[in-house]
Amino acid sequence: MPGRWAPIGLLALQGDYAAHARALAERGAATREVRTSSDLAGLAGLVLPGGESTTMLTLMEGSDLGARLVAEIKGGLPVLATCAGVILLAREVRLPPQRSLGVLDAVVERNAYGRQLDSAVVSLTVRDRDGLGTDALEGVFIRAPRVTAVGTSVEVLATRGDDPVLLRQGAILAATFHPELTAGSPVVDLFARLVRAAG
Ligand code: GLN
Repeated sequence: MPGRWAPIGLLALQGDYAAHARALAERGAATREVRTSSDLAGLAGLVLPGGESTTMLTLMEGSDLGARLVAEIKGGLPVLATCAGVILLAREVRLPPQRSLGVLDAVVERNAYGRQLDSAVVSLTVRDRDGLGTDALEGVFIRAPRVTAVGTSVEVLATRGDDPVLLRQGAILAATFHPELTAGSPVVDLFARLVRAAG
């Protein structure tokens, strides 16, 4: 049973998991790097970081890590997925198509914001839900995917123009941007609260 001081797992195959470790340490949370399924035992939450989703999938091949991640997430483990992490979780991935873990009821297009504008800091519109407040949220986008459809179990918590960029499906929080790169991000605060509420 994950106890009060159980660590949050960081999928550490590749990508910016170290930035997540720093952001969570600032909130008093312990973290553990996850590279094999045995690293999943007794976690209080899980972060799927940004990076290259294709590389992460390749590194998961031939082991039970992907299947065990799906089982933990379906079992209600709180998850923060950012950028490539959202691509890993989505029900369907396009541009180019790619297999995925399929636990988040959303369709995403990879690298959808074009070459010139692919990386940017953007002011996001927030829905005042889950204690996120009403202030505009900063979104750091790095070759981000675009969410083109969400299922009825998904709440859209923030948008960039018309595009959903922050999603919640139960204990899954999914951001196409990088809240771990914004000091004091309310998104990381919300994830820390979800972990505590589940613990
Ligand atoms: N474009 C990357 C991918 O497809 C995601 C970029 C990111 O995570 N910053 O995996």
